Amino acid sequence: MPTDDDIARRLREVRDRIAHAAARSGRSPGAVRLVLASKTQPASAVRAAYRAGERDLGENYVQEAAAKRSELEDLRDATWHLIGHLQTNKAALALRTFDIIQTLDTWRLADTIARLHPAPKVRLLIEVNLGAEASKTGTAADQVESLIDAVRDKTDILGLMTIPPHREDARKYFAELRMLRDRLAAHSGLALSELSMGMTGDFEVAIEEGATMVRVGRAVFGERPA
Ligand SMILES: *Cc1c(COP(=O)(O)O)cnc(C)c1O
Repeated sequence: MPTDDDIARRLREVRDRIAHAAARSGRSPGAVRLVLASKTQPASAVRAAYRAGERDLGENYVQEAAAKRSELEDLRDATWHLIGHLQTNKAALALRTFDIIQTLDTWRLADTIARLHPAPKVRLLIEVNLGAEASKTGTAADQVESLIDAVRDKTDILGLMTIPPHREDARKYFAELRMLRDRLAAHSGLALSELSMGMTGDFEVAIEEGATMVRVGRAVFGERPA
């Protein structure tokens, strides 16, 4: 287990790398939000990251996140992001637990969220599956527009999120997500300003391609417990 000092030191390194990648691509470091990916990490590790200045907390599993959030309820100005797949039957708990849901990916889920109709409007990103084959979650690129139409009145759609299917050519997928966003923003009239892409292995490349949120776990917390 990393100590609180390890976490603080690694965070400084990651922020430094973010700043350099942003500078290389002519962007300000403030244009990129670090979203911690703390699945399977104890609440104490999340608290250490918070103390070191982090405010964007990402979790994959709704129940794990709900438990952690109640353990960390004194961290009032934290923003909790759902970055893992959301099942329809967990939508209500997810809406209570998270401030931003990054993984809207089906009509059915969109419909469920729209019917729960939370106030204030839930902030969402649409997860896009850019790989032609395999990858399990995310909506196909050509379906994103209709998903946007299905929820735009009842939610606040911030942008797009992706997990590239192949590590080798992550850059190509990151660029693809950015271009898709540009097209959809032009069609829909929404800003869609957020691009959530890049993890420990490729967040610098993602920033060079326009990421506004990078989701980083291992570079901060070390390898996840098996
Ligand atoms: C775990 C996870 C991350 C972070 O991955 P690391 O390799 O630990 O940085 C980012 N995004 C999603 C969706 C994840 O599940």
